[in-house]
Amino acid sequence: MMRKQWIITPERLPTIRRRCPKCGNKTEFVNSGKFRVNANGRLLDVWLIYKCEKCDTTWNLTVHERVDPNSIQPEIYEAFLRNDESVAAEYGINRELFVRNKAEISETQGSYKVKVLDTTIPCTYKNCQEIEIKITSCVKLRADILFGEQLGLSRSQIKKMFDKEKVMYDQTPVKAGSKVRNGVYRLAAEDISGIDQNISKHQLHQGSINSDNYLTKTGMAIS
Ligand SMILES: [Zn+2]
Repeated sequence: MMRKQWIITPERLPTIRRRCPKCGNKTEFVNSGKFRVNANGRLLDVWLIYKCEKCDTTWNLTVHERVDPNSIQPEIYEAFLRNDESVAAEYGINRELFVRNKAEISETQGSYKVKVLDTTIPCTYKNCQEIEIKITSCVKLRADILFGEQLGLSRSQIKKMFDKEKVMYDQTPVKAGSKVRNGVYRLAAEDISGIDQNISKHQLHQGSINSDNYLTKTGMAIS
């Protein structure tokens, strides 16, 4: 059995409202999930690319401007080069970045989506499915809600699964009400028949998108 990866992001990341030169008026620019990296001599520029919702005109949000490449962690640099979706989502909710770019932000909706990817990493134990979770920091989600919805299990099935300690993180059983975090979860294989749904969208119930990470239209943080 191979490890799966679940990328959990807000269903809609904040968009940026700005004047589109092609449309001739203010439109919404959407996070494309892609970076542009430019190494200029010994200095590095990195942008996160936004696209006009109507005509695809691009606008670049400055992530790094003329910085020493050595000041960026190698794994983050790699993530820029391969357009890592969860890293793009993380920058796409970064309030300091919006302020620095004088970007006018529109708010997001309170729901999340899960993208399921196959990896080539074998699972450590027989009969256990490993799931590497990458969750955008603004999505606050309970473990029982995520696994219940994602695996299509009923409330009682999911309760039993947690009561019987069939969900592990590191070497520790996961509590049903604990917050989902980045890292590798391990599930007993008999409980995961619904695991292959590829992209699913869920409303947040007891979890919520943490509005602290978003900006109002004027660039003021919501408290
Ligand atoms: Zn446009």
